Amino acid sequence: MPTLHSILNGIAVLMLTIVLSVALFSQPPGNISPATPDPQIAAALHEVSPARIQQTIEKLVSFETRSTLSSDMPVASGKGATAAAEWIRSEFERYAKACGGCLEVKTDEFTQEPGPRIPMPTKITNVYAVLRGTDAANAGRIYLVSGHYDSRDSDNNDAKGAAPGANDDGSGTAVSLECARVLSKHRFPATIIFLTVAGEEQGLYGSAHFAKMAKAAGWDLEAVLNNDIVGGDRTPGDTSQDAHVVRVFSEGIPSSADEKQLKMIRALGGESDGPSRQLARYVASVAKEYLPATTFSPLLVFRHDRYLRGGDHFSFNAEGFAAVRLTEFRENYNHQHQNVRTENGIEYGDLPKFVNYAYTANVARLNAATLASLASAPAPPANVRLLTKELQNDSALAWEPSPGGMATGYEVLWRDTSAADWQHVKLVGNVTKAALPLSKDNVVFAVRALDAKGHRSLAIVPLPER
Ligand SMILES: [Zn+2]
Repeated sequence: MPTLHSILNGIAVLMLTIVLSVALFSQPPGNISPATPDPQIAAALHEVSPARIQQTIEKLVSFETRSTLSSDMPVASGKGATAAAEWIRSEFERYAKACGGCLEVKTDEFTQEPGPRIPMPTKITNVYAVLRGTDAANAGRIYLVSGHYDSRDSDNNDAKGAAPGANDDGSGTAVSLECARVLSKHRFPATIIFLTVAGEEQGLYGSAHFAKMAKAAGWDLEAVLNNDIVGGDRTPGDTSQDAHVVRVFSEGIPSSADEKQLKMIRALGGESDGPSRQLARYVASVAKEYLPATTFSPLLVFRHDRYLRGGDHFSFNAEGFAAVRLTEFRENYNHQHQNVRTENGIEYGDLPKFVNYAYTANVARLNAATLASLASAPAPPANVRLLTKELQNDSALAWEPSPGGMATGYEVLWRDTSAADWQHVKLVGNVTKAALPLSKDNVVFAVRALDAKGHRSLAIVPLPER
């Protein structure tokens, strides 16, 4: 049995080794500043077209209703959810043809048994395109953008009435399609999936089926961007809309956390550090890098969704995936879930004329920049730990190398426990441990991987190792 003294000596030697190895590579800590934009990603963003987004939304509206309950309407009628799904599929196939078959176009189709808002067995079709990563060791990492193409009017059980759904959620569907169109002209080491789902208005059925499929298949799905109501409603006379802001909602405590994980979150003060919250912070950092803050920027809302409301990101969160929701700054309830009509001079209904296409294009750019940045970056470091064997005022972190071999270095991030976003960064080099003269009691740490071009992974908050 080693004596306590020899153990302490061993630890002291280990700590000295850490400090020395870090000192060789480290830079002084600095405040966070945006990375240099990747020219390939900047070029892709340049391709995003408000006119194309307008065409997509007007085409979706032309199906008159995309209520999931309309799915047995014949495609030949040019109306209903199935005709819309067929068109989305043909659009993805058109992009695939233009990129020499770089996109695999797929459907996830199933029959939903009756439930609260499903009166009879109903076909639900999710349509998606896969831009497979080019690096064999990294193609297993998947980043996903989604919008729901189904729509509804005032009566959620009405399968036939006009339900244009231009903003909710033609806009999110158009974002997913536009990301597919512009990003399929480029290649990335990791995989990107462009998804459109149905059954959202009926109770998130399409996304739930897809997320369960991803979980069952063991996908390494690292981030989901759910775009729902990103049309930037521009009703004449409304002075409260802000076309420079998109809200990004994220859960702090993972929906999938079990009792043991919840206990750990409470003990560590980790209520604002779940994977979805880190994804939201990543979106904010990408915006600083690629979209000038003066014209368009995300507003991070530290809440799962709008007050007591929900969306397709819930389905992914429930299966343990990081997922956030993007929504316009101010919603107009005269246009959501309303029969198209005019009453007392007020126009009701989710019509294309209320959509601000330039705004939706900015949302598409933010999505495309986030997906491309993540798919260009190394995987995050694995098994990140904060070493707590001893009570001490310094902090020692250790991790395993980023899987996939793309990382050329690591950065330690930290912030005050009361700060919303990362405040400081220290490049520690291509190492797997770091010691910082800061007390872990007073800050929150994270570690991220980067490559030689400055692409950064998602940040991983350490777990304590005793
Ligand atoms: Zn919606």
